[in-house]
Amino acid sequence: MSFDVAIAGGGPVGLAAALALCRAGLSVAVVERRRPPLDKACGEGLMPDGLAALAALGVDPAALGGAPLAGISWLDGARRADGAFPAGCRGLGVRRPRLHAALAEAAAAAGAELRFGVAAAGLTADGLATSAGPLAARWVVGADGLHSAVRVWAGLARPPLPRRRFGVRRHVRIPPWGDRVEVHWGEGCEGYVTPVGPELVGVALLWNGAWRGSRLAGGFERLLPRLPALAARLREAPVAGPDRGAGPFGQRARAVARGRVLLVGDAAGYLDPLTGEGLALGFAQARALATALAAGDPARYRAAHRRDGRRARAITRLALFASAHPAVRRRAVAALAADPALFTRLLGLLTGDLPVGALGLGPLLAFARRLALP
Ligand SMILES: Cc1cc2nc3c(=O)[nH]c(=O)nc-3n(C[C@H](O)[C@H](O)[C@H](O)COP(=O)(O)OP(=O)(O)OC[C@H]3O[C@@H](n4cnc5c(N)ncnc54)[C@H](O)[C@@H]3O)c2cc1C
Repeated sequence: MSFDVAIAGGGPVGLAAALALCRAGLSVAVVERRRPPLDKACGEGLMPDGLAALAALGVDPAALGGAPLAGISWLDGARRADGAFPAGCRGLGVRRPRLHAALAEAAAAAGAELRFGVAAAGLTADGLATSAGPLAARWVVGADGLHSAVRVWAGLARPPLPRRRFGVRRHVRIPPWGDRVEVHWGEGCEGYVTPVGPELVGVALLWNGAWRGSRLAGGFERLLPRLPALAARLREAPVAGPDRGAGPFGQRARAVARGRVLLVGDAAGYLDPLTGEGLALGFAQARALATALAAGDPARYRAAHRRDGRRARAITRLALFASAHPAVRRRAVAALAADPALFTRLLGLLTGDLPVGALGLGPLLAFARRLALP
């Protein structure tokens, strides 16, 4: 049997793409090398645009459980800035296996053939080679994550960014102490706290530098003291499950489509997790991919990929700059603390809920002045 589209990788973005493609009337097979339940290193914060994209794909966010998110806080030493999402916008902290199960159920119900425990092994003249034999398809989609093999097979890999960043995520059993994602800034390390249930909090630590072996649990313990307020908060909290790590980030693609091969999600080029936009962006790409392939026009996907990621990439670059320059970061946190409305507008800009013009020249100038003055 031949399909319109073969997708390598059944993570959240591969499944979202399968769902969107089926809804656009194409036949789809997905090969995923692991078997459910699928977990992964992830902060598990779905930003408002990610939730809206899920709903547009027909996955009811209310059925996912998890913990509602009202905004993002930045903490640097004793300084703290609280940003609320714009009025009417909410995010969601949700465990990955839960999100994955909901997407898999929706994709299967829409008609996608999901083959778990089957690995993509290479490109062929008429589709994909897999560990379970050939899979014929007109289009091949690489949704195989950060270290995408499809990206390499299609000649689309580009040397990674020289700055090496990594992440490790741990769950702790503790009642969430707020309804925002907390980003704790430390020296060469950021902690990213997301409530994901009534008694469960996810903590992702991101850092610059080397990956010291595969002892991730050791990695978490080594890094946490760099964030003393967070370390104090977690001191008595029991660890819930194994730590999961990822990296180095900064993997890039030369292009997101070549011939009949297209890349989505992390496979199409990695956005640093610091701004929590990876899933939202991946879901937007999945929908754009379906529109383009239904029209038989991959060039449309290239354009949409460039356009849709622009804001998130720009704001993530600014956040990474702040991460690398402690003095700028401290002033930014102080400036945002002094103007929570500006923080809200920046969050609205990041998630696409507000236009660039909503920032306002006056508040921007005041922010720039605070950044410039020691
Ligand atoms: C520490 C950390 C924190 C993060 N926090 C957030 C956050 O709070 N919010 C957010 O939105 N994003 C966050 N992200 C980013 C987010 O996790 C990713 O953007 C998202 O998982 C991308 O989904 P994906 O489907 O493209 O890739 P993945 O989730 O990596 O899925 C790829 C799938 O492909 C499969 N696969 C790989 N190779 C093959 C093969 N050869 N054959 C078949 N299957 C294969 C893998 O098993 C995997 O299931 C975070 C990332 C990290 C590392």
